[in-house]
Amino acid sequence: MGRIYNFSAGPAVLPEEVLREAQEEMMDYRGCGMSVMEMSHRSSMFQDIIDETEADFRRVLQVPDNYKVFFAQGGGWLQFAMVPMNFMRGGRADYIVTGQWAKKAFEEAGRFGDAAAIASSADKGFTYIPDCSDLPVREDARYVYICENNTIYGTKYHFIPDTKGVPLIADMSSCYLSEPVDVSRYAMIWGGVQKNVGPAGLVIGTIREDMIPQEDLPGVPTMMQYRTYIDHGSMFNTPNCYAIYICGKVFKWLLDMGGLSVMKARNEEKAALLYDFLDRSRLFRGTVRKEDRSLMNVPFVTDDKDLDAKFVAEAKAAGLENLKGHRTVGGMRASIYNAMPKAGVETLVQFMEDFEKKNLK
Ligand SMILES: *Cc1c(COP(=O)(O)O)cnc(C)c1O
Repeated sequence: MGRIYNFSAGPAVLPEEVLREAQEEMMDYRGCGMSVMEMSHRSSMFQDIIDETEADFRRVLQVPDNYKVFFAQGGGWLQFAMVPMNFMRGGRADYIVTGQWAKKAFEEAGRFGDAAAIASSADKGFTYIPDCSDLPVREDARYVYICENNTIYGTKYHFIPDTKGVPLIADMSSCYLSEPVDVSRYAMIWGGVQKNVGPAGLVIGTIREDMIPQEDLPGVPTMMQYRTYIDHGSMFNTPNCYAIYICGKVFKWLLDMGGLSVMKARNEEKAALLYDFLDRSRLFRGTVRKEDRSLMNVPFVTDDKDLDAKFVAEAKAAGLENLKGHRTVGGMRASIYNAMPKAGVETLVQFMEDFEKKNLK
């Protein structure tokens, strides 16, 4: 069985080098006679894995020393609740609504206090990022929340919103480690790793120390308090050991390549291949305002539903899989994460050119 080009939005493509290494170590991890999946999380062998994984994450993202790192389960959705449970504390929080994931986080926050949507791009189907230069941030808001890259709509903030001094929290799931980030401008960053980093079932986050509640939060479950993770090295209970191990390998892959500035250049080069084609195509068009385009998720349409379906089916038959757009927006979407090779994007563009020739009336 050969490997296909997988354009899935998540869970998504992983670097082949990483998969091969994991395969080599599957039966016998470095002479210990068992797989990482079979290992006690209290063993020194696993402690070394998680320590090295955290150290490499810090190196890759250049996390400042006054930030703590945690590994959690429960996916993005649990962070939608944990963020307000830990930081809102019955007070207020302001959300910028740029798509479904931002909206779900905003709605979830409403369960825990006074959440307000202070900006939105819903008026044009979330095809752009709103102006964030003079936001109506409430003075007593505990934080401002954004979804940095909108997986479904293919938009990304290419600037940091002016929150007027209120701490900024970002969901970076679908652009995690795709380019350098100035972590010091955020109070907290988190991401579900199944989009751009590793296997599903793990969230990695980093929080500025002074933000983390030090006292026990009444009514908040133990596993939903950040301090539980921070105080116990993310091993208060059994973590997702195998996903942590795989992420560690991905961090080494990124470091070996030269880190996030090299990754960004590669991502820009890949995205340009696709966007340049979309801009000159007479059959396909991109759906996002140019200055807000994501390097990771590229939605496009032909403006003909039947033709879209035909494209998706023929692409699949040609080994280009998971190009169907999100069920709520239709059309197509190519997710071209870090691990998507340039050859995959070149093959896709060639396929689109051929499809255009055959189907343009
Ligand atoms: C996929 C995604 C989520 C939801 O993650 P789950 O782990 O499925 O809960 C949240 N935010 C963004 C930006 C996503 O792409």
